Amino acid sequence: MDFSLTPEHHAIRDAIFKLSAQFSDDYWLKKDAECDYPLDFHKVFADAGWLGIAMPQEYGGAGLGITEAALMVQAVCESSAGGQGASSIHLNIFGLNPVVVFGNEAQKRRFLPPLIAGSDRACFSITEPNSGSNTLKLKTKAVREGNEYVVHGEKVWTSSAQVANKILLLARTQEPHEVSKSTLGLTLFYTDLDRSKVEIRRIEKMSRGSIDANQLFIDGLRIPVEDRIGEEGKGFEYILHGLNPERVLIAAEAIGLGRNALQRATKYAKDRIVFDRPIGQNQGVQHPLAEAWMKLETANLMMLKAATLYDQGQPCGAEANTAKFMCAEAGFEAAQTAVFTHGGYGYAKEFHVERLMREVMLFRLAPVSPQLIKCFVAEKVLGLPRSY
Ligand SMILES: Cc1cc2nc3c(=O)[nH]c(=O)nc-3n(C[C@H](O)[C@H](O)[C@H](O)COP(=O)(O)OP(=O)(O)OC[C@H]3O[C@@H](n4cnc5c(N)ncnc54)[C@H](O)[C@@H]3O)c2cc1C
Repeated sequence: MDFSLTPEHHAIRDAIFKLSAQFSDDYWLKKDAECDYPLDFHKVFADAGWLGIAMPQEYGGAGLGITEAALMVQAVCESSAGGQGASSIHLNIFGLNPVVVFGNEAQKRRFLPPLIAGSDRACFSITEPNSGSNTLKLKTKAVREGNEYVVHGEKVWTSSAQVANKILLLARTQEPHEVSKSTLGLTLFYTDLDRSKVEIRRIEKMSRGSIDANQLFIDGLRIPVEDRIGEEGKGFEYILHGLNPERVLIAAEAIGLGRNALQRATKYAKDRIVFDRPIGQNQGVQHPLAEAWMKLETANLMMLKAATLYDQGQPCGAEANTAKFMCAEAGFEAAQTAVFTHGGYGYAKEFHVERLMREVMLFRLAPVSPQLIKCFVAEKVLGLPRSY
């Protein structure tokens, strides 16, 4: 396998750096502090056609692979935009994969072009307060009434719901005792986020101030049958289909954040004079930076391998999960090293490395925790007994 970037890949990175350069470090610092969604950044990317990078060409997308999408979000994270910029466009790029794969023709024509154009903004609502990582235990209920489903329930951590007009929602249509397999009974919908029936409460959190995370209280949301994706009861299977590419994108973003922090730290280590010489002349400062680079670039290879396998239509569960874990850890170590390299100034917001460290922490935790990735590798790769 050859994981060198092609001239087209370099062209993607160059174009993204150029677009992102319109938004300075100070812009993102302000967005983070004021918790103000970066709608103008999202618009610039939509207008330039980037949101459809991995969407089929017949609906207005570029029809490229997850490798290209990963390189794109990675470049966003390497720029001043960091995790806030990437998160503002992440869902448009790949969140609607279940619609692309399992939606009918009419749904694709209705849903994909506005998402690619940036006129629709979607949120993705699966996690619930009482089921957490155990998605199969979710309780939000959709009951069929004629040509509609009526939904009641509670969701948590739904990102970007404050600015979204659409929601990709997983809800229960059958109770566990009514289905032959535990993976059945959940149904996927992509529908209007009707705020008269959904109360959206913002959660105060550690990082990505401008990208809201929310609790949703759903009370009688009515969903037309034509907004159901695929068959009733098979929603969990549809969601699983998109998990590997999602892990690849997160892995790529974590590497981007790590590289961003490392670049700032390296520059600082060259410029900062203490004891009459640059701090970067000391091995105690150099070595952690060199180690951070080695770990980032090694982990990045696993991300590229997972992306390549996915684009070739081959199984990539072990690689995608490993990439997500290793890249998030390497990204965090690089960001933490960058904070230490800056000494006391690493703690000051104006040097940006503390922002990157807070942002990459999220990629260690979500969308799947490091523990559950290890459970997956232990079971599926090593053949150990399932532990949960
Ligand atoms: C900022 C942010 C944005 C998010 N955005 C979205 C979004 O847009 N849409 C969405 O649906 N969700 C979103 N999530 C939710 C995220 O995917 C969940 O946090 C995640 O799925 C874990 O659920 P939980 O937080 O309830 O943790 P829990 O499931 O309660 O787990 C808590 C801890 O226990 C560990 N644990 C649990 N069971 C086991 C086990 N059997 N073995 C070992 N360890 C175990 C976990 O690894 C974890 O460390 C977001 C989360 C955050 C923080």
